[in-house]
Amino acid sequence: LRLVGASADAEERAAEMALRPKSLDEFIGQDRVREQLSLVLDAAKGRGRTADHVLLSGGPGLGKTTLAMIIASEMQAPLRITSGPAITHAGDLAAILSSLAEGEVLFLDEVHRMARPAEELLYMAMEDFRVDVVVGKGPGATAIPLELPAFTLVGATTRAGMLPAPLRDRFGFTAHMDLYEPAELELVLRRSATLLGVDLRPDGAREVALRSRGTPRIANRLLRRVRDFAEVRGSGVVTGPVAAAALEIYEVDALGLDRLDRAVLDSLCRLFGGGPVGLSTLAVAVGEEPETVEVVAEPFLVRAGMLARTPRGRIATPAAWAHLGLVPPRGTFA
Ligand code: ADP
Repeated sequence: LRLVGASADAEERAAEMALRPKSLDEFIGQDRVREQLSLVLDAAKGRGRTADHVLLSGGPGLGKTTLAMIIASEMQAPLRITSGPAITHAGDLAAILSSLAEGEVLFLDEVHRMARPAEELLYMAMEDFRVDVVVGKGPGATAIPLELPAFTLVGATTRAGMLPAPLRDRFGFTAHMDLYEPAELELVLRRSATLLGVDLRPDGAREVALRSRGTPRIANRLLRRVRDFAEVRGSGVVTGPVAAAALEIYEVDALGLDRLDRAVLDSLCRLFGGGPVGLSTLAVAVGEEPETVEVVAEPFLVRAGMLARTPRGRIATPAAWAHLGLVPPRGTFA
């Protein structure tokens, strides 16, 4: 999965690390998730136990990794980070699980992309803190039970619907993370600006927040680009007009649509007459994986009221045609 619009190179990872909230109190927005999670953690601490397994679902850049780090730090437990695609054999997972420290938090990103045999091993590990290690092959194979230290699994997925029910059911707590409201992103931006020493004015924060596709990672990234622009072309002060001019250069339009979003809408309207068209056909037209279109572009386009998912396929709304400056074929919205 290439996370277009949310990819992380080395510079970006370092910048992200510096801006990560370290506690639940510093974590902005997602109020319900925060409250529920703090109850789960406090209860576990009160009982002197490891916390229940937690499933975080939501698009890239919404704060899943950040929350996993916060869970570990609130539980004063070490944190191990891995991801579904890195686990290609059950043995990979068995090796990780058996090397965990007592109480450790295991963050398993993209848990829906783990190999099936590993998934089955995980069921037992989550439930009984035990795995069966199979030795040998065929009729002579024997399963040797192996006790594991108690751990907390924090699974993250961009698509909760892709998880098999037996796996989903083994998480004691599931949190769904939505796109952020512009007002929440303004708070994220103000916090980041303070940490980075950027002179961000209220109208500048508003302008960047409105163009960040509901995503803190994108907000922070745009802030860095806007700061570059303000330093090179201006006095370093980020006002609304400065932010707007900078983001024009980076091809982020007034509604925050990026290049992939526009490509999706453009294909939908120009190639497919506004739809309905199936996800995979649409993905081929824009040269991306269906999952990327579905997970990265669509949630925001749906939220912005420009794309609708129907049983017959994706359709462009009147707002999409208007945004592209196109006129829908006659009779489309009769
Ligand atoms: P995910 O794991 O969901 O892809 P991350 O946890 O890596 O997202 O978050 C991406 C960036 O966005 C991080 O650098 C983090 O600083 C910032 N961020 C995410 N959520 C919040 C939040 N609620 N408050 C402040 N910053 C956030």
